[in-house]
Amino acid sequence: MKISNVSAKKVILVAMSAALLTGFAGCEDPRWVANKVSKAIKEKRLVDHLEALEVAAVPTEDGNATTRVAGSDGYANSADYIKQTLERNGFEVTLQPFDFRSWVELEGTTLSVGGVTLVHQHDATDDIPADYATMSYSGSSDGDINAEIAFVTPDFDFDSADYDDTDGCEASDFDGVDVSGKIAVIQRGGCTFDSKVVNAEAAGAVGVIVFNQGNSEGRKGVISGTLGSDTQASIPAFGARYDLGKEWYDTLQAEMLSAALNVDVKDEVVVTQNLLAETKGGDPDQIVMLGAHLDSVAAGPGINDNGSGSAGVLEYAIRLNKKMKTLPVKQKNKVRFAWWAAEEAGLVGSDYYTNEVFSAYYDDAQAQIMDELGVTDPNDLTDEQWDMVEARYLEINPVKMYLNFDMIGSPNYIFGVMDGDLSDTKDSLATPTQVTLSHLKAQATSKGCSLNSLPIKVRRQYRRHCQNALTTQALLTGVLLSVVCSPVPSA
Ligand SMILES: [Zn+2]
Repeated sequence: MKISNVSAKKVILVAMSAALLTGFAGCEDPRWVANKVSKAIKEKRLVDHLEALEVAAVPTEDGNATTRVAGSDGYANSADYIKQTLERNGFEVTLQPFDFRSWVELEGTTLSVGGVTLVHQHDATDDIPADYATMSYSGSSDGDINAEIAFVTPDFDFDSADYDDTDGCEASDFDGVDVSGKIAVIQRGGCTFDSKVVNAEAAGAVGVIVFNQGNSEGRKGVISGTLGSDTQASIPAFGARYDLGKEWYDTLQAEMLSAALNVDVKDEVVVTQNLLAETKGGDPDQIVMLGAHLDSVAAGPGINDNGSGSAGVLEYAIRLNKKMKTLPVKQKNKVRFAWWAAEEAGLVGSDYYTNEVFSAYYDDAQAQIMDELGVTDPNDLTDEQWDMVEARYLEINPVKMYLNFDMIGSPNYIFGVMDGDLSDTKDSLATPTQVTLSHLKAQATSKGCSLNSLPIKVRRQYRRHCQNALTTQALLTGVLLSVVCSPVPSA
């Protein structure tokens, strides 16, 4: 287990110091309580949880790894562990099941171009670098496919003012490019892998290799991408190294180039589930929510990503519950805990939760405002009136803040906080999010760390995840993957 225990504990303590936000009446400084809970979190207990999650992982279908990916027995075992541990510690656990499109790559994938057999990411070693990976949610080849390859207008002139990084992003990019019955080779950039693959399939391609963009050091290696669980693509799709793409392109200027491939996948709808629990005490109309995704990627047991966040939230829940029984304070806000399923497939579990739970509050808010204004058609609402709907929604949604924990045990960590409203990474007025940000930074400083503010990019999944919230924020270390949405916390 490559977790730096010291750094893991330090990070988790900083992360959990967000307990301030739970707020306790009867105690002058809520930080006093938060500190007690944080101090009660012991490294050994966290490692115990991580070891249990490692044991919960099961071998993948191709036998190349163990996994806790959504839909697998490894995920079910992990969910059982969280549920049983919570129940043993006095929590009632609610399971929120939902349908999920599970995808796994089966054994025996092969890909060769120009007669050269390429190295699958699964087979790479320290000495033999990977050439390609299968995109998750790729289709099967249904046997061997042998076909010519065809490039879709790649551009290697990175410094040119006319540099085009959007190959294959529009259906019209395939006008005048014959990919019919061929394997389309497309440079990364400009849009999702899914858009490129769907457009190529519509133009008649029988497979797609997206090669890395090559315009920076970070865009040269193998692409380990996903088409997303809502993809409409059904042909095989791979991600390859940049220099392979460039080499094939150069070769193709002189001679025709063919590829051969075979890939078999299991793609089916299964039921998976989010887990939810909350403290018995605290105001049910004033809820602070802490969450972490419990699923891993298919390629490993995901002990850092995101056993660490799951274990942190679990241990925090247990310690908070115990402390509330012994400390002479009354809990002010209810604290809700969530372990999300299928995050790695595109925030599927947390999306399901927000759609099921938060959308109802939004619909209520809209109905109330329309009723009060005597408006019957939502199309008649003005911008100001939609602002009223938004304000009412924030009033009636009892979840006043959500904090997410993802990969909080990275050995090569940084201390970072997502700057949800860009208040710290761009000039703007102080907002409730800014208050939270200042608090988190102060907590980090008091532990001898400093936090980097990282602007949240407005990516599709962030928007979707936050569509019903005003501000966003998250704590993270290592790779930027997590996101948090929080309606305005009331003072
Ligand atoms: Zn993660």
